[in-house]
Amino acid sequence: MADGNEKVAVLKLRCPICRKPALLAFRPFCSKHCSDIDLGRWLGGEYRVPTNDTPETPESSEEEKS
Ligand SMILES: [Zn+2]
Repeated sequence: MADGNEKVAVLKLRCPICRKPALLAFRPFCSKHCSDIDLGRWLGGEYRVPTNDTPETPESSEEEKS
């Protein structure tokens, strides 16, 4: 009875989301949850590749007239 352990095998990797030991089934994440979080970040643009676009200058005076 030494089969079926692969799905729960703990890797030496650490989940990049929560730093828990990653599971083989979800590597490099520890769970489906963290995998989804990472995917969401991708879709959300948090992992944007740095570009040469100059960021908006904070000087743009945004006057709020009440
Ligand atoms: Zn995790």
